[in-house]
Amino acid sequence: MQRCIYCLAEKEDECFNREHVMPESFGTFENAPVLHGTVCMVCNSEVFQLLEHEFKEDTDAGVFCQMFSRLIKRKPTQARLRGKNTQLKKRFSMLDDFFSDVFPFFVVEDDRIKVAFIPQVIVQKPDFLVYIPIDVLVLARTDTKLRKRLESILTRDLERKDIKMFGGADSLEDGLEMIRRIAAHLAEYGIEYVPDEAKNKYNEVGDVSKQHFEMSYQVTLTQEAGRVLAKIAFNYFAKCAQDAGNVELVFEPYFNRLRAFIMGDGTVELKDVITNVEQKAIIKDLDGQDASLVAHVINFEAVNGDLIAKMCFFSGTVFTINMGKVPAGFDRAEFGCGHAFFPIDQKICPISANPARIGDAYSVAKSFGLLNRL
Ligand SMILES: [Zn+2]
Repeated sequence: MQRCIYCLAEKEDECFNREHVMPESFGTFENAPVLHGTVCMVCNSEVFQLLEHEFKEDTDAGVFCQMFSRLIKRKPTQARLRGKNTQLKKRFSMLDDFFSDVFPFFVVEDDRIKVAFIPQVIVQKPDFLVYIPIDVLVLARTDTKLRKRLESILTRDLERKDIKMFGGADSLEDGLEMIRRIAAHLAEYGIEYVPDEAKNKYNEVGDVSKQHFEMSYQVTLTQEAGRVLAKIAFNYFAKCAQDAGNVELVFEPYFNRLRAFIMGDGTVELKDVITNVEQKAIIKDLDGQDASLVAHVINFEAVNGDLIAKMCFFSGTVFTINMGKVPAGFDRAEFGCGHAFFPIDQKICPISANPARIGDAYSVAKSFGLLNRL
């Protein structure tokens, strides 16, 4: 028998499945922290799965993960946005808003992360927007699972006005050829798309290296998005407690408010759990290097007797989460450390308040745990 840390029900071992501390859409990691026998299947599939989809498609953190998805997954990916609570504005510095309809996937070129405007078909429906790059369409010819997913989007009842295409080539001619190639792929899904030559637009980018990519976004943090954030923090705490051999900690009444919030109890307000949201990355720039740390960061602190989690994802937004009172018997001196998750090289590193320790190659197993901080 095991007890679920969320619904608190005691169930047989087979009623539990693996729970990733960090949602898989945020990356997969070597020695990934995974909870076993901790979160029941009912909570996992009936409560959290839908929430996580929404999080991925309609928060800045989720949308950024989709921009990085090609680097995280190391294969062609598509993107899907809901645009209800997160509005993106993107443009190249020297151009008009020609590119604002195109999804900016990140790629690595010459050891630097760059924006790649990949030829893509953009499908707009009232409640979502999907960006399907041409290499995803190519992949779907041999990948039946992917093909099924695309079929659910690319249905015959799509109207002409729901579809836009981006050719992304070095000349108008090549761009048109690309559009024709995408249209041929759509034909395989029963969609007849005849490019409207009169409406075609071609923009010369010129020297791309001189272009500066700018993006701004407006986000409304919803109760649902807050629940996903709180769950990541509590998962991480549970993993720390488990590794420290003190799993009972997570059942302390100190965490009842947090647990109720995560489970969707509307009486716990968002502002009482997510106490601060700011655009100030926990670790932005590595000392003396002209590069930003591309990682997700989670750490815990004790502040005025409360256990505070601070989390920051690709988007740079820092979320402060009040988890509840610091459980009795904890030595505050042992707090203040956490982990950086690097989805691109799939590594996890312990972090400390001392920047010199960032990137130390300590194994997760040895360093994980509130009671075993560096
Ligand atoms: Zn449960």
